[in-house]
Amino acid sequence: MKDTRAPLAFHAVASAEVLSALDTGAAGLSSAEAAARLAQHGPNSLPEAPPKSPVWRFLAQFHNLLIYVLIAASGVTAALGHWIDTGVILAVVVVNAVIGFIQEGRAEQAMAAIRGMLAPHSAVLRDGRRISVDAADLVPGDIVLVEAGDRVPADLRLIEARGLSAVEAILTGESVPVDKSVAAVEENLSLGERGSMLFSGTLIAAGTGRGVVVQTGAETEIGRISGLMAGVETLTTPLVRQMDSFARWLTAFILILAAILLAYGYFVGRMEFGALFMAVVGLSVAAIPEGLPAVLTITLAVGVQAMARRNAIVRRLPAIETLGSVSVICSDKTGTLTRNEMMVASLAAAGHVYSVGGNGYAPEGAVRLAEADADPAEHRVLVEFSRAAALCNDSVLHIRGDDWHVEGDPMEGALIALAGKITGDGAEPFQSWCRDDAIPFDAAHRYMAVLHHDEDGAARIHVKGAPEAVLALCRDQRSADGGTEPLDAGHWHEMVDTLAAEGQRVIAVAARAVPGGHAALSTTDLDGTLTLIGLIGLIDPPRAEAIEAVAECHRAGIRVKMITGDHAATARAIAARIGLDNTERVLTGTEIEAMDAGDLAEAVLSTDIFARTSPAHKLRLVEALQARGLTVAMTGDGVNDGPALKRADAGIAMGQKGSEAAKEAAELVLADDNFASIVAAVREGRTVYDNIKKVISWTLPTNAGEAMTIVVALFAGMALPITAVQILWVNLITAVTLGVALAFEPTEAGTMRRPPRPRNEPLLTGGLVWHIVLVSGLFLGMVFGVYAYATGKGYDQALAQTMAMNMLVVLEIFHLFFIRNIYGTSLTWAAVRATPVIWGAVGFVIAAQMLITYLPVLQGIFGTRNVPLTDGLMIIGLGAVFFALIETEKQMRLAFRRPPETSEAP
Ligand code: ADP
Ligand code: MG
Repeated sequence: MKDTRAPLAFHAVASAEVLSALDTGAAGLSSAEAAARLAQHGPNSLPEAPPKSPVWRFLAQFHNLLIYVLIAASGVTAALGHWIDTGVILAVVVVNAVIGFIQEGRAEQAMAAIRGMLAPHSAVLRDGRRISVDAADLVPGDIVLVEAGDRVPADLRLIEARGLSAVEAILTGESVPVDKSVAAVEENLSLGERGSMLFSGTLIAAGTGRGVVVQTGAETEIGRISGLMAGVETLTTPLVRQMDSFARWLTAFILILAAILLAYGYFVGRMEFGALFMAVVGLSVAAIPEGLPAVLTITLAVGVQAMARRNAIVRRLPAIETLGSVSVICSDKTGTLTRNEMMVASLAAAGHVYSVGGNGYAPEGAVRLAEADADPAEHRVLVEFSRAAALCNDSVLHIRGDDWHVEGDPMEGALIALAGKITGDGAEPFQSWCRDDAIPFDAAHRYMAVLHHDEDGAARIHVKGAPEAVLALCRDQRSADGGTEPLDAGHWHEMVDTLAAEGQRVIAVAARAVPGGHAALSTTDLDGTLTLIGLIGLIDPPRAEAIEAVAECHRAGIRVKMITGDHAATARAIAARIGLDNTERVLTGTEIEAMDAGDLAEAVLSTDIFARTSPAHKLRLVEALQARGLTVAMTGDGVNDGPALKRADAGIAMGQKGSEAAKEAAELVLADDNFASIVAAVREGRTVYDNIKKVISWTLPTNAGEAMTIVVALFAGMALPITAVQILWVNLITAVTLGVALAFEPTEAGTMRRPPRPRNEPLLTGGLVWHIVLVSGLFLGMVFGVYAYATGKGYDQALAQTMAMNMLVVLEIFHLFFIRNIYGTSLTWAAVRATPVIWGAVGFVIAAQMLITYLPVLQGIFGTRNVPLTDGLMIIGLGAVFFALIETEKQMRLAFRRPPETSEAP
């Protein structure tokens, strides 16, 4: 094989020369050759930045204000000779770093999994057939097919281009699309002027084309500039950033407070410095929610992974939060609400309506007219249908085992199957026709046109598209006897309505013979010159899961709207089957255009179906819905859906049929294009938000309760009910277990029966502040109560402190069970049974408390004593009383939030 990296100026030589230099042809490489070249050239991907070494990542965890303070504190205690205190403080420091380290690893794992799911694919010719491969598997010499919306996967020399233009801003900074063509250009031109090349990483703005891969991976132009792929995005959202900065300010605040206390205790209280110092350190560690940002990040990582399991890939992390507050979902019809498994069901020609039988995409089946098989020899119009269907087509059918599959657009696959059924030529009818030119389908003009010639030099134009669009181009129609007759537009529109009312997607096909020399196709060739062949009706059944998901949305107070390019009657029929609310009223693109923003904002609430819309209408719809205060999720797949997806609160792109352009504009990508996955993502979004709230609602009162115990004791000038090292221990044991457990909480029952959370609901609500005050007050009262009870009973101070410390931990455990159900009751069997994570955490904490209370070695270190059984039971009993108090308090509040029950409620 020749050296494919020869310094050839690919843009400046003829495409044929490039093909031969790369030892390939217009039919592409064989798969064996491609594999050999892959081994030689390596994968077509940019090298990733090397991951930070684990040691370095671990050390980075120590870079934190609180940690510095603690290290300094351990120095002070060491200088005072308090070795036990020093050891415990250092243990806190190390455990903190370990949690941070694990959390970061988990976050990176979550992001890496997602990146794998978003790996781009591209259409390539291998063994002469069009297949879709991982873009990383491309090699020099591959023939790649591109179309509008694609991201160019490697540096390509064009060998075919139709209306092709590309945005090369990533390379040249120029955001206006550059026209591309096959012709060689001068050698010493800048990248932006090399019109015969497509460069890796640029975006196809319009048209279609094919090109031969000349460079891959780091050898591409973009690879030479950037060299490395951007590193991992850090796992954060506005909410988590907000908590992060809150935690930082709180740290500063507590440290100042601690300094004041130290000064007060020493100079005013005249306390012994060593004990006072430890008390202040204990206070700082207790009060500062040092683990909170890490736990919140784990919560997000768990959410990202849960969504990925449900086929929803989060591209921008803030979307996790937004999804939870979505109040309206605007969805595509084809492929999202329906299965996008198309089959031609009927053909309407002048005089007759044929029905078409068969299964899936198999090109076998009968065309029937009034219960009898229709013979194409008698019904010449069928041959015209099949020729238009097969030629005006960019897709191919493959058989795998016994199953037929489409490579390309499912509707076009159904049309090839139709042509096969009529001609009996299987999946490759009309092979002798050769394409000269094409006008690709575009959602704005809604048709596709092609120009072909056959072996005898006869040339023909074929057009397929939305009936209104095609009828507008026609002059006459094929008559029943095989001739032509004047166009009866009224009849055809009625026929469209009849077929569409059955839920069929209707397209029209038309054709025209042109002189043999005609080689280029322009829109002027079509205008008012075509002969209509007839209508083709396709069925595309609704997805069963979508019906269930729409019902779930309605229960969750989320409206569902269908936005489609399809015909109004088809849209209405499908909407009725899917279970949309209002199927009476349909707003079409033309009607939307006639409205101003005010009218549209009025109409948009009462309408659930929008038909014959183009991408520009989607943008206006998003804006109108947002003007009504709704949080909008919008789906999209096309090149031009970008602005609407960006504008929507949650832009959602289709992973399978969506263009790269749409995916890059979106916050969320659906791996399976399924509406049900959107709803699953919303459910996960609500769960993550709830869990963030739960983590915060558990941590803050716990910290406040612990800290107040010390502050009160210091100011009152009494002995600490829990010693400083014991406070450090409790922090150490519970923060890594009970706090983190909430990050893994499953979706609370009834989550999808609540209305969406208001768009800008603050996290620190009055309710949460009240909860902090109530719980920390109860903590304080019960800890001091137990301590007072023990000393009153004549126990020594060490035993009283041991009991108070255990009281604190028992309260934290009961508080955890309370927090798990902030919207419902915690007294159900499911709530008590909890999850393995919860019981694992609780079991660990209980075991740790047993050890520190009863193990002689630890008793020596922490100054604890054996707690008598009856006192231990009393402590647990007090925990239950605490639980009963806060649970009934919650039920009182919830009682007012529920709407009054009526007897006719379902
Ligand atoms: P949808 O919202 O159902 O995905 P599209 O915007 O893709 O609708 O298509 C709108 C209309 O354009 C279709 O109803 C059909 O009539 C026509 N159409 C769609 N795809 C093609 C195509 N590949 N070639 C010609 N016409 C098409
Ligand atoms: Mg579509």
